[in-house]
Amino acid sequence: VDEHNATLNRLAAIGEVSAGIAHEIRNPLTAVKGFLQLMERDYPSPHWSVVQSELEQAIGTVHELLSVSKPNLVTEPKRQFSLCAIIENILSLFHKEMYRVKVHKRFHHTKAMVYGKQNQVKRAIFNLLKNAFEAIEDEGNIVIEHRRSSDSVILTISDSGPGIPQDKLSLLGTPFFTTKDTGTGLGLSQVYSTFYEHGADITVKSNGEGTVFTIIFPTVSSGIDGSRAAELTYVEGEA
Ligand code: ADP
Ligand code: MG
Repeated sequence: VDEHNATLNRLAAIGEVSAGIAHEIRNPLTAVKGFLQLMERDYPSPHWSVVQSELEQAIGTVHELLSVSKPNLVTEPKRQFSLCAIIENILSLFHKEMYRVKVHKRFHHTKAMVYGKQNQVKRAIFNLLKNAFEAIEDEGNIVIEHRRSSDSVILTISDSGPGIPQDKLSLLGTPFFTTKDTGTGLGLSQVYSTFYEHGADITVKSNGEGTVFTIIFPTVSSGIDGSRAAELTYVEGEA
């Protein structure tokens, strides 16, 4: 327990420092991006696209840090969207991995819409799938299931990877907790804070044989009170 608390304290301290740094470098980076667009116009060169994409990468990391530590600094208008549609979108980014990992889609009620910050939710689902692909070392399976109950939309993402040891489960979502050599440990923090903000519940099951993440998006009619739940609506699309 002491070791666990020490880990949590250490990670929290790192989190605070890096949130401050992220905040400081976000504005200059955004300014550079703007001037880059002007220079690209004035001085055409094939190298700009490399500079652009490297910069996007840096801005992305800063955003991830901020969305974890200072979510109110990352604003995005809310809208209605279909989870199935964004999953299709995300999967196209993993097309190379899909040669070795078989992805099974079990989509029911594909027209079910949710309400919230689409890009943020997209990033969260991307982060979950990225972990699933990374967990499967060679070949394996990922199952994505989308269904609805009377008062919610339920998304499950299962992978046939090695699973997560019981004593590590409580550290999931702590910023900077990672077991990977090149991991940042920010993915699940973004996932947890995003779903919390959207009033969605997330649970993880792992018993040494794969991992299952279940996300339950509540509906306004579900009777769950509070501003969190009220931000997410279930709307039946036209057939
Ligand atoms: P990162 O991927 O950078 O390590 P994350 O926050 O995404 O950071 O994940 C934190 C840790 O949780 C991972 O390093 C890994 O140990 C564990 N983990 C997350 N998802 C899975 C999964 N599907 N299977 C096995 N371990 C996982
Ligand atoms: Mg990750």
